[in-house]
Amino acid sequence: MLSKNHSENCFGFCHDCDRVHSLPTGNAIELAQELLRDFEKFKRLDFINDESQADPQFGFDQLFPGDRGHMFGILECENESGEQKILRAFSSLAGGIRKVPGWVSSMLDPKIFAEQVFPGQQKIKAMTAEMNGHGRETSAGAAIFEERKQFSQNLMREIHDFYEFTNFRGETRPLRDIFLKPDSIPGGVGECCAPKLLNHAAKNGLKPLGLAEFYWGGPNSSGRKQPGEFFSCCEDKCQPILGFMLCGVD
Ligand SMILES: [Zn+2]
Ligand SMILES: [Zn+2]
Repeated sequence: MLSKNHSENCFGFCHDCDRVHSLPTGNAIELAQELLRDFEKFKRLDFINDESQADPQFGFDQLFPGDRGHMFGILECENESGEQKILRAFSSLAGGIRKVPGWVSSMLDPKIFAEQVFPGQQKIKAMTAEMNGHGRETSAGAAIFEERKQFSQNLMREIHDFYEFTNFRGETRPLRDIFLKPDSIPGGVGECCAPKLLNHAAKNGLKPLGLAEFYWGGPNSSGRKQPGEFFSCCEDKCQPILGFMLCGVD
């Protein structure tokens, strides 16, 4: 849930300044509501393109079949001339979709994702299927379980090495140097909307004014996320990097 105190929506502790940096929601909630109206109207992610140019893989019926849903984010910024710029992002999508017209791309280089990350993820899926086929209790199943654990730990370390973050003082650092607890970095750091949006803004000379993240689609399986509901930046993956990322903003 979004904090009642909207100034605490997006924040993190910065080691360099020895204090918390934060970003309010600003106008981002209203902008997100406009975006939701576009979702209802167009029912596809590439709505900046004409209907005739629409790519079927970006249709909501393809991306979110059944009652699946997803996290989206909006960042209101201004450029050096004081003009408003609006950035949109989605959290990582299934099927390896990394780039959609009108949206901030994933932080990871698409080539690295395609050549190194995606095949690794597919291998883990295959190992899981194989393990379940044998049954976890059998010796073959247990052996695959161990093998999968090693493989996924190594893959995660490799993936972490690909991520670099830029802040609003123009500094760029690798994930391992900025995560507050570098020994316990969870999977998927940098794949949420907030880091994608802030990194893009920082690298393009845009000053962030407000950020909002919301869920859209069917109610999620645990029922904890309702379509159109706003959420604060997540505690496990984003807060530990937001102190560095927001440095220079406030
Ligand atoms: Zn997050
Ligand atoms: Zn700082």
